[in-house]
Amino acid sequence: MVEKRTPLPVAEAVKKVVEQAFSIGTETIDLEESYGRILAEPIIASSDVPPFDRSPYDGFAIRAIDSEGASGDNRIAFKVIDHIGAGEVSSKKLQAFEAIRIMTGAQLPKAADAVVMFEQTQETDEGITIRKPFLSLENVSLQGEDLRRNEVVIESGSFINPGTIALLATFGYSQILVAKQPTVGILSTGTELLAVEDDLVPGKIRNSNGPMIVAQLKRMGLRCKMYGMSIDNLDESYRVVKKAAEETDCLITTGGVSVGDFDFLPAIYEKLGAQVLFNKVAMRPGSVTTVAVANGRFLFGLSGNPSACFTGFELFARPALLKMMGAQKLYMPHTIAVLGEDFKKANPFTRFVRAIYDGKTVSPAGFNKSNAVSSIARGNALIVLPGGSRGYQTGDTVDVLLLGTEEGAARWQL
Ligand code: AMP
Ligand code: MG
Repeated sequence: MVEKRTPLPVAEAVKKVVEQAFSIGTETIDLEESYGRILAEPIIASSDVPPFDRSPYDGFAIRAIDSEGASGDNRIAFKVIDHIGAGEVSSKKLQAFEAIRIMTGAQLPKAADAVVMFEQTQETDEGITIRKPFLSLENVSLQGEDLRRNEVVIESGSFINPGTIALLATFGYSQILVAKQPTVGILSTGTELLAVEDDLVPGKIRNSNGPMIVAQLKRMGLRCKMYGMSIDNLDESYRVVKKAAEETDCLITTGGVSVGDFDFLPAIYEKLGAQVLFNKVAMRPGSVTTVAVANGRFLFGLSGNPSACFTGFELFARPALLKMMGAQKLYMPHTIAVLGEDFKKANPFTRFVRAIYDGKTVSPAGFNKSNAVSSIARGNALIVLPGGSRGYQTGDTVDVLLLGTEEGAARWQL
């Protein structure tokens, strides 16, 4: 008799998983190693940025007061008394109608409070003349205008992107405290699976889920431990799953979680004494997605169908792993958009449609069955269509989840 499973609403299933995820500690690493990691301490400004008043242009530093009354008919002359580049500090203090030739980034000389750009001057034997008055602080980058000393610049729990690295460097963090990364194992199950380099033979397909999940993890900044492929055999699969579950914080398997004659994952969970959080979710694709916990380790049983596998990872594994990594933002960014095509297929379950979002309109990314591979590659978003008896039409406003936005540099902007 086929086992009866009770479907759990998606939001409840996500909540159940995230509730079981715990941070796995912190470690100190070198700045160069920190790209893609999650900050486990806030970044505090150790100095003002910029740390001194400086020139944002190549030009001449003057006292604004000396420029009062300057016009085309009344050019005011300045004597140039020094010349400094970035990194240099003039030892001179400006007196009335004196100027210092200054390059971008150089500290403003004493008594100077404005910078005249080269193109606003005419050179003379003695120095320069100008034809307009300058306000005090005109063309000056002020100390602390970007950031103030002791300010919390980035919160703990943020993803370290290239900009974060720039800040860390600015404030002299050569070492930084980050969240430890969970060890994630990947095992692809299915007797039909061939390795990527194998030739196709009747009845077999290449394992695309394994490499796909490696990449899904990679874009979260996570590496993984590969457990390869296992045939649909209870003893063999059990042996590999047991070993992998002992060696990792989280094991992601694909395939074998359904109710088919060769779907052995449910029996394996039972044999392991794992607590199954759910084994059916009210969603398409991927309703068979199963999540279990054994000895504090996660077991994600994703469907073997590529689109279901992909979606199951993004919806369940990703937020759980992010929480384990100490991240603050766990979920995909959400927006609404206008549906660009009819989507007639009605379904009682919430449907996640791989889609192309262009900033305004969202359309299904092609072939849309759960076994589709093509639409995963083409899509940059998931349309979320709540379950119901009707389909959806062009022009309807729909919910959209944006994919690949780990860095805030969203793929959909490309
Ligand atoms: P299963 O979840 O084991 O019932 O598999 C569902 C479908 O996904 C079947 O058509 C499998 O052949 C296919 N499939 C399973 N594992 C993979 C994989 N690693 N890569 C690509 N397709 C797979
Ligand atoms: Mg299978």
